[in-house]
Amino acid sequence: MSDGTWHIYEVKSSTSIKTDRKHRHIDDACFQKYVLTECGYVVSKVSIIHLNKEYIKQGNIVANELLEIVDITDAVDNIYSSVVNQINAASNFINNEVINETVCSCRYKTRSNHCDAFGYFNKAIPEYSIYEIGRISAKKVGLLADNEQLAIIDIPTDFELNVNQQTQVESVKQEQPILNIPNIKRELDKLKFPLHFIDYETYASAIPRFDGLSPHKHLTFQVSIHTLTENGTLTHFEYLLDDMQMPIDMLQAMQDFTRSTGTFVSWHASFEIGRNKDLIEWLPQFTNYLTYINEHTFDLETIFKKDYIDYRFHGSSSIKKVLPVLCPDITYSDLDVNNGTMALDTWGRMVLDPNFNEDIETTRKNLLDYCELDTLAMVKIYEVLTNLY
Ligand code: SF4
Repeated sequence: MSDGTWHIYEVKSSTSIKTDRKHRHIDDACFQKYVLTECGYVVSKVSIIHLNKEYIKQGNIVANELLEIVDITDAVDNIYSSVVNQINAASNFINNEVINETVCSCRYKTRSNHCDAFGYFNKAIPEYSIYEIGRISAKKVGLLADNEQLAIIDIPTDFELNVNQQTQVESVKQEQPILNIPNIKRELDKLKFPLHFIDYETYASAIPRFDGLSPHKHLTFQVSIHTLTENGTLTHFEYLLDDMQMPIDMLQAMQDFTRSTGTFVSWHASFEIGRNKDLIEWLPQFTNYLTYINEHTFDLETIFKKDYIDYRFHGSSSIKKVLPVLCPDITYSDLDVNNGTMALDTWGRMVLDPNFNEDIETTRKNLLDYCELDTLAMVKIYEVLTNLY
């Protein structure tokens, strides 16, 4: 600044200033102010630069429309002394000659708050621990941890838990799954054939890559559909974009394959439904078809939230936890692309990186194999469920 003081800009890739437990953007900027101040500079203003989620790329990127600059000087000043105290406490801690490596304070927090080192610092915590109980509150974790009741089997029978949590505890104690077969049948009987088991892969980037996109909007670049008819015939459809572009041909081919028939089945369906809403906005010519899909989608994961609880899922209803228990013969481990993040990264490099030097056909096959397995896995899980009754 002209008066010799400094103005800090903290750059974030988010579309707003986040102050939740995991992000703490104001604290981050405050730390930068502390560093400069300790180095002898006078900081008179602190700002955060983040993305503007309303920005839609049209032609060249317009930086001052893509980015928003927010003055947070007062917010930083308000927390400055408490952040300095935390910095001092952290440096005192790392300067200790010896630290207790057998336990850490996150023992009193729920699993989503644990860092990757939790297992290292808490080696005594057993398999099937209280931290796996679905949606358990920090207060209940604290009560159990205080009493050293860290294994699910140690939870007293009169300890207050909701119905799903109690079912999970029962499953661990009995070492077997607990199923509500009439409910499973009732849910699956509502589905109308043909059943289209569907999965998308998507690409998102902070800076929109082509016209019409906004920061962090997911572009659907791949789809796999296994269609099961009432007489048991299974057919497969797949499509993978070759370039970073709107998936017009993909949607047309999808529509030709499934038409507006039957029920679409996906896992954690809110994701596919959200992508269809984006596609309706960008490609309104597919509104009727995509609206049909959204209105006739069944989320197979819901069965594993309340009607099929198995202690071996470790409190999760993710397909990656359910599949190995229900269909141990089907595995992702042999695939070169074996998770969604890898698929996004691989496809992004293949279509954007001019120095991409892997074989395109092999890379395409790896991507197609991964997405195909995702929908085949749903078919196999569906078959396990229908064989229960
Ligand atoms: S879980 Fe990680 S962040 Fe939490 S106290 Fe333990 S080591 Fe620290």
